[in-house]
Amino acid sequence: MMKKNDTFILEIEDMGVGGEGIGKLNGFPFFVKDAVVGDTIEAKVTKLKKQYGYARLMKVIKPSKVRCKPRCAYAKMCGGCQLQALSYEAQLAFKAKKIQNNLMRIGGFTNIDRPKVIGMEDPWRYRNKAQFPVGTDKEGNLVTGFYAARSHTIIPCTDCQLGVEENKTILEKILSHMQKYQIPAYDETTRHGLVRHILIRKGFFTNELMVCLILNGKKLKAMEELVTSLQEIPGMKSITINVNTENTNVIMGAEIIPVFGQAYITDQIGDIRYQISPLSFYQVNPIQTEKLYRLALEYADLKGEETVWDLYCGIGTISLFLAQKAAKVYGVEIIPEAIEDARRNAELNQIGNVTFYVGKAEEVLPEKYKKEGIHADVIVVDPPRKGCDLAALETMIQMQPERIVYVSCDSATLARDLKYLCERGYELLKVTGCDMFGWTVHVEVACCLQRKDS
Ligand code: SAH
Repeated sequence: MMKKNDTFILEIEDMGVGGEGIGKLNGFPFFVKDAVVGDTIEAKVTKLKKQYGYARLMKVIKPSKVRCKPRCAYAKMCGGCQLQALSYEAQLAFKAKKIQNNLMRIGGFTNIDRPKVIGMEDPWRYRNKAQFPVGTDKEGNLVTGFYAARSHTIIPCTDCQLGVEENKTILEKILSHMQKYQIPAYDETTRHGLVRHILIRKGFFTNELMVCLILNGKKLKAMEELVTSLQEIPGMKSITINVNTENTNVIMGAEIIPVFGQAYITDQIGDIRYQISPLSFYQVNPIQTEKLYRLALEYADLKGEETVWDLYCGIGTISLFLAQKAAKVYGVEIIPEAIEDARRNAELNQIGNVTFYVGKAEEVLPEKYKKEGIHADVIVVDPPRKGCDLAALETMIQMQPERIVYVSCDSATLARDLKYLCERGYELLKVTGCDMFGWTVHVEVACCLQRKDS
């Protein structure tokens, strides 16, 4: 019998959905964080349950062929990247297997091939947005970086390898300005201090940069001097202050004070331009987003005559893509500000054949169907992780569109919803993954479903 703190040798045979290594000792499975498939390791028991246990990776005895050296020194502590010790190729294979497993186990699809997962050309520095907390370390020095996994302790790191190179320059300028004028960081426990977070965004297509200082107040000492210094960075187009005086974990407050340039930057995905303000939602990996949404468009197979519904449409990224190929597109989204952005983006791109509704997909769609008898040739959905609400799926079945395109960020709820649709007259024709978040366990999926009698 094993007990806590026992050490033993373990071969890692598989990886779990959270990226942990899984190996069996006499048939008893152990989960080991930071171990990768193919490793032989020395492990130490941390917790024992009836059916399985947890162990800590003490030493890699024989490294797996797919093991690589994490590029970031903070990979283990940070918790943002779960797969930094796994080669990029192996990550894509891990994600393909995860999709396939969920479709088989949860969706009940028996003849499913392992899907292709579209990878990134360069899996580093793909994020166009970062929010850095600002705080004080034990010695009283100003720090900025990332929260350690499951805590609010800041790991000082100004150069996350998933973010843009400009982050480091911007953060260093702001920290040195704070030091020079003795501007305090905000302290969550005492609720004193000023600077809470720094939000940085970059338009990958336009190279425009945005800096937003999230303050427990409205003013920063000698702001003009900081602005002059930040303006030296090529592409700097927007500097703003966001006021957040609440005692909350929510990063941004509601008020934006423009300080330099416009209160937004512009970027482009495909042929569509977007205005992005500090509060707007915008896809964080625009290069892979374009690939994923092109796939959705291909799956929608539009000829130009169709009426399309885009449920969970956000700022209308997919809707505007579809509108270029369809007769009419309707978008539905729960967040009013996102719909405001969607409408403005439609106008900005002179796209007139889209209508956006604010509301829950599971309420707007049934209501429009019952009252107005609306029709859809194609329905596209891109729901949050919890998937589609049953009422939305029910109405989709009643509406009998020829095709349903399901874009998902969680293959488990995707599999559940596909099962529902495929038991009610639809056939799953195509499944493709797209890697938007390299070095993490997350994967996006696009699926094409066809009505069986069409
Ligand atoms: N395709 C969108 C992003 C979709 S993310 C884009 O590119 O902008 C999922 C979206 O669903 C989010 O914007 C979220 O606010 C919205 N949402 C969550 N629950 C919803 C619901 N019940 N009804 C409609 N929209 C919802």
